[in-house]
Amino acid sequence: MSQYDLVVIGTGPGGYVCAIKAAQLGLKVAVVEKRATHGGTCLNVGCIPSKALLHASEMFEEAGHGFESLGIKVSKPKLDLPVMMKHKQDVIDSNVNGVAFLLKKNKIEPFHGLGRILSAGKVEVTAEDGSKTVLETKNIVIATGSEVMPLPGVEIDEKQVVSSTGALELEKVPGKLVVVGGGVIGLELGSVWGRLGAEVTVVEFMDKILGPMDGDVSKNFQRMLKKQGMEFKLSSKVTGVAKKGKGLEVTVEPAKGGDAQVLEADVVLVAIGRRPYTEGLGLQEAGVALDARGRIETNGHYATNVPGIYAIGDVIVGPMLAHKAEDEGVALAEMLAGQAGHVNYDVIPGVVYTQPEVASVGKTEEELKAAGVTYKAGKFAFAANGRARAMNHTDGFVKVLADAETDRVLGVHIIGFGAGEMIHEAAVLMEFGGSSEDLGRTCHAHPTMSEAVKEAALSTFFKPIHA
Ligand SMILES: Cc1cc2nc3c(=O)[nH]c(=O)nc-3n(C[C@H](O)[C@H](O)[C@H](O)COP(=O)(O)OP(=O)(O)OC[C@H]3O[C@@H](n4cnc5c(N)ncnc54)[C@H](O)[C@@H]3O)c2cc1C
Repeated sequence: MSQYDLVVIGTGPGGYVCAIKAAQLGLKVAVVEKRATHGGTCLNVGCIPSKALLHASEMFEEAGHGFESLGIKVSKPKLDLPVMMKHKQDVIDSNVNGVAFLLKKNKIEPFHGLGRILSAGKVEVTAEDGSKTVLETKNIVIATGSEVMPLPGVEIDEKQVVSSTGALELEKVPGKLVVVGGGVIGLELGSVWGRLGAEVTVVEFMDKILGPMDGDVSKNFQRMLKKQGMEFKLSSKVTGVAKKGKGLEVTVEPAKGGDAQVLEADVVLVAIGRRPYTEGLGLQEAGVALDARGRIETNGHYATNVPGIYAIGDVIVGPMLAHKAEDEGVALAEMLAGQAGHVNYDVIPGVVYTQPEVASVGKTEEELKAAGVTYKAGKFAFAANGRARAMNHTDGFVKVLADAETDRVLGVHIIGFGAGEMIHEAAVLMEFGGSSEDLGRTCHAHPTMSEAVKEAALSTFFKPIHA
């Protein structure tokens, strides 16, 4: 029986990053993964495959509808879905193989099988053939992630009624796609199939899409998606999905109750959220406490109530994002190696990889109002940005929110082409406690989309030049 400093259960972005950092800091590390490949939800069935299809479908859309106005004549593009899916699989393969390589490079021992905690210091691994190995370790990190939240009364078969996993693998473009849930995953995958030809209707329980995002952003973004052909039924709930011939009938009711309406669909995507995944881990026997929402309870330093057992990523409180899980993995590894580790939860960017992209960091206007913070807001539209005009990507804006007294930037929200890249200058500024004046006085290369960030900052502390 080997003795480890650390055994990490789950090799998603939280687990594998934690393992690598700990190994870099001199700890003897093993990882346990029940999937055949490393990388977790993110690399296998989440962030990476969805971005491969988002990019490919965006190119298809550009070739079909964007080229002509730039003076490029091509015949109507034809979809070769199997090749697009092969591109997605190649991207998954190269990423998961990359993680396997990094684990090896850092001398981390990988175990494939279901990890179960026998007690603090002991993890049992059951391999696919049923054989069992017990690993002894000083510390255990649970990084088992999350799973799709089911919709009561609706059975997911991953063919016609799909979760995000099935929606990444459809064999043909559905004529009509009903997306249940107007959150990030539903809008991204709805965009993919919409660009490839599906008629997409999004049914959302709340009165806005993108739940916690800034209201102004959500409203404008919905308008843009509608212009692209996406239909929305807000303040509505799906109460049933029934087979009818080869298709489906989706029953939709007003969220507050009332007369039901039936929508026809070829495919229904259930994307109402994700929930923490702890099945088979033996938490009850090990005495590890969960909160009311089934998340592993931690003390702010990722320690559970059982000494020597820690948890990070989607399985604990906080936004279910790969980079949040990664940063927690690094911080915890540093703490386990005797260093100081820290994650600044006020500066975790969130990105929706649609076209245009939506990106945000820090507080929304609604949050600032609710907290009674007096703030000033500066906004700049991409329609007034030279580079955006040159690229025909003038949809969207940048909004900077800063404390009215100190000018410290509290939130930045962007809708626009490349917003997911631009948001990071705001994140760095906010990490350093910067002001809108700092941002507005920082020289930005011309012509770039990022100049709109500078102009929004200028509008926040005084006046923009180009508006
Ligand atoms: C379609 C989709 C798109 C997404 N896009 C983005 C995006 O663009 N950006 C972003 O930041 N986030 C995105 N996410 C969310 C992101 O995937 C998660 O936040 C992230 O993967 C969480 O990382 P994690 O390490 O906590 O868990 P996971 O990635 O879920 O990894 C957990 C791993 O633990 C393994 N495991 C579970 N139990 C056991 C056990 N008992 N023994 C052994 N192994 C076990 C699982 O097999 C899995 O591999 C997306 C998610 C989906 C579904």
